[in-house]
Amino acid sequence: MSDKKLIVILGAGESGTGAAILAKDRGFDVLVSDSGGIAPRYRQILVDEGIDFEEGSHSMERILSAAEVIKSPGIPLDVPVMREIIAAGIPVISEIEFAGRYTDSKMVCITGSNGKTTTTSLIYHILRKAGIDAGLAGNIGNSLAYQVARDPHPVYVIELSSFQLDNMYDFKANIAVLMNITPDHLDRYDYKFENYVSAKFRILQNQTAHDAFIYWNDDPVIKAQLEKITVEARRFPFTEHREEDTAAYIDAEDNMVINTPGTSLSMPRADLALHGLHNIFNSMAAALSASLLDIRRSDIREALEDFAGVEHRLEPVGTIAGVQWINDSKATNVNSCWYALEAMNRPTVLILGGKDKGNDYSEILPLVNEKVKAIVAMGLHNEKIMEFFTANTSLPVVSTDNLNDAIAECQRLATDGDTVLLSPCCASFDLFKSYEDRGRRFKDAVRALGKS
Ligand code: ADP
Repeated sequence: MSDKKLIVILGAGESGTGAAILAKDRGFDVLVSDSGGIAPRYRQILVDEGIDFEEGSHSMERILSAAEVIKSPGIPLDVPVMREIIAAGIPVISEIEFAGRYTDSKMVCITGSNGKTTTTSLIYHILRKAGIDAGLAGNIGNSLAYQVARDPHPVYVIELSSFQLDNMYDFKANIAVLMNITPDHLDRYDYKFENYVSAKFRILQNQTAHDAFIYWNDDPVIKAQLEKITVEARRFPFTEHREEDTAAYIDAEDNMVINTPGTSLSMPRADLALHGLHNIFNSMAAALSASLLDIRRSDIREALEDFAGVEHRLEPVGTIAGVQWINDSKATNVNSCWYALEAMNRPTVLILGGKDKGNDYSEILPLVNEKVKAIVAMGLHNEKIMEFFTANTSLPVVSTDNLNDAIAECQRLATDGDTVLLSPCCASFDLFKSYEDRGRRFKDAVRALGKS
C-alpha cells in the first residue's frame, strides 16, 4: 500500500482521462473507475500512462478509501456508487475544479441553457485571431485538466454545463458569462427549476470586484435572480435595446454597440458572421469578453465578421433548386427552435421531432404561423406534434419515421425561394445516435440530392 493520497476518478471520458493524467503528474495514487466500457481511445491513453483503471464495475472498498472523488458531469448523484461515496463523506469535485487548483491562468467561463458552444467558440476564435495563446476547454476541446498538465495556456475559454458547476467550490471565473436560463435537465434537479437556476449562478462563486460578470439582462429568470443575490464582480449586461448601464445593445441604426472601460466598438449588425437575434447576443457576449481581455477593436471586429460558425447550429448546408437547406440539429429544445425560426426570412418547411422532453410547442406557435409553410415530423412518436399543429394551425403537417422519407416530403413541399430547416426541438435518440449523427446524416442526404 502506498502512503500517497488516492484520487478516484469516476467516468473515463475526456474529462476523466484528463483528470487522471493531471492527478498522476501531481503525485497522487489514481484509480479510474467506469461502470460501462471505456472507449478504446481513452483506454489506450490510460495504458500508455500507466494509470490504474477498471471498467464494467466499481471496486467499492478501494473507492471508499479515496481522499477525493472526481466525478464525470454525466453521472447523477442518485446512482448506488455515488450514494455510497456521499454517505462515506468523501469530497466529490468536478474535473474543472480539480484542474483549477493547478493553474493561475485567466479563466473565461461560459454557461447558459442555450448558446454556450457558439459563444465559447466565438470567444476562442477572437482570441486566437488576435494572437493570444488561448486554450478551449469544458464541453469542447481537450479537457482543462489535460491542458493544465501537458499543454498549458495563459488563458482558457471554458464551456460549463450546470452539471460541471454542481461540483465546483473554490474555482473562480475571471470572466463569467451567463447567456440565458430556460428549463432544461430538470430530472437532475429534483424537478425544481430554482435548483437549476442556482446551479447556473454558481458561475459567480468566488468572484471579487476584480472579476467580470457578463449576462443577458433581457432574461426574466436572470433578472429575478439578480434581485435576490449580491454580485461582487463588475457587471456587464447586454440587451437587445439600450437601457441604463447596459454594456452592449443594438442602436437605432442597427449597429451592435459594445462599451467597456477600455473599449468602445460599434459595427453594423449586417456585418456579423452569425445571423439571428440569438447570435447577436452570442456576438455581444463574445465581444464583451474580448474587450475585457484588452483585445484590439479591429481584431474583435474582424473575428466577428469571419467566424465560420459551429457545426449543427443554424448551419447552411446548401441551396438546391432554389431551396436553402439548414441544419440546426443541435436545437434539442423548443427555445432554441424559437431562435432558429426568428432568424428565418423565407417561407420555411420545418422538420420537427425525435425524443420529446416534455415540450410545450405553444412557445413557437406565433413564429410557426408567421414563417412556416409546412411541418414534417420525423420520429418514432409523432402523435404530439401531429395533434398540436393540426389543431392550432392550418398548415400541412406530415408524419414520417425516417430521414429519407422526411427529406422526400420536404422536397415535395418546398419550392424555389423556400428554406428547409431541421430544428427538431427534440433529442435524437429514437432514430439517431446523437444530435451530431442526425445532423451529419441530414447533411449527407441533402448533399446527395444536389448530386442526383
Ligand atoms: P449549447 O452549447 O448551450 O447547447 P449551442 O451554441 O450549441 O448551445 O446552440 C444550441 C442551440 O441553441 C442551437 O440550435 C442554436 O441555434 C440555439 N442557440 C444558440 N445561441 C442561442 C441563444 N443565445 N439563445 C437561444 N438559443 C440559442
